[in-house]
Amino acid sequence: MPVPDEQSAPFWAAAARHELVIARCARCGAFTHPPDIICPHCGSTDPGFTFQPVSGHGTVRSWTVVRQSFLPGFDVPFVLVDVELAEQSELRLIGRLLDGPDAPLRVGAPVTVAFEDVAPEVAVPAFELVGGA
Ligand SMILES: [Zn+2]
Repeated sequence: MPVPDEQSAPFWAAAARHELVIARCARCGAFTHPPDIICPHCGSTDPGFTFQPVSGHGTVRSWTVVRQSFLPGFDVPFVLVDVELAEQSELRLIGRLLDGPDAPLRVGAPVTVAFEDVAPEVAVPAFELVGGA
């Protein structure tokens, strides 16, 4: 279960609405996930991050098949994909792939964000292959 803190609360609030938002630096305009107290792109110590909606489109960089359950409520095996979001190079988000453990994955495969409702008012971002498995 995600535990929002002050930095990530807007991210999780948007996820609950099935909306993907990413922190964007007010100084240089670069997206950062997860946001830190310093912008890793311009080095600002006062980045004034605001969470902005993104397309949810991206491409698979790599993946892992999880065979041992460490997240209660998720049946194994499942696939975790490391996705580079379309908005910016190296902007990465990791999530479950909903197409199942036998999905025909390849590096660069296009995916789009989906949301899994894991509890009332709580959803976690996941991904689906564009065009289906
Ligand atoms: Zn910046």
